[in-house]
Amino acid sequence: MLNLVLFGAPGSGKGTQSAKLIDQYGLYHISTGELLRDHIARGTELGKTADKYISKGQLIPDGLMTQILDDVLDHNIMGKNGVVFDGYPRTIPQAESLKGLLRKHGTDLHAVIGLEVPEEELVQRMIKRGQETGRADDNIDTIKNRLEVYRSQTSPLKDFYTKEGKYIGVNGAGIVDEIFDHIADGIEAATGAKRRSPKH
Ligand code: AMP
Repeated sequence: MLNLVLFGAPGSGKGTQSAKLIDQYGLYHISTGELLRDHIARGTELGKTADKYISKGQLIPDGLMTQILDDVLDHNIMGKNGVVFDGYPRTIPQAESLKGLLRKHGTDLHAVIGLEVPEEELVQRMIKRGQETGRADDNIDTIKNRLEVYRSQTSPLKDFYTKEGKYIGVNGAGIVDEIFDHIADGIEAATGAKRRSPKH
């Protein structure tokens, strides 16, 4: 299996690059943000709880996120080439939980790709996305909170995974296909995994 975390601040391009990873390596995509937005749209109990946090730009509590991930992996990991985790983990306790969840399925995390983008560009991208898609948490007040949460709770994961020898930092500003080439080069160097089609 090839299990990857796509890591980065909100607006860093995780969704865009996940789609390319899935295509090129045949991986299963787990986006916790999309999963939660789907629950909100369907009006489930989980959606109602999640909405209270998401609308303020706060994180859903770690215990709840671990339960959600446990359930998703139990139902989806069998027979897959591997998984791209997009938007998870977002805290050190979530990273510890992820280790246990993957171990439970007899597998491990192979690499963490960190998309590094300057903050001004993140803000511009999210405002544009909000205008184009109507995504509710892409408004300036919530964006500021999400960036603050990223700084205080999520960015320490860079050190965490660097110490584990798993972090691959990639410049996430520029042309989408070129950024993906850097990601794929990093994955190949770290794991030996090869993409399906040649470089752009
Ligand atoms: P995203 O689509 O990844 O930007 O996530 C949107 C929102 O969903 C975040 O701002 C959080 O409120 C919530 N969320 C997504 N993933 C997580 C996670 N791993 N832990 C806690 N909250 C999350």
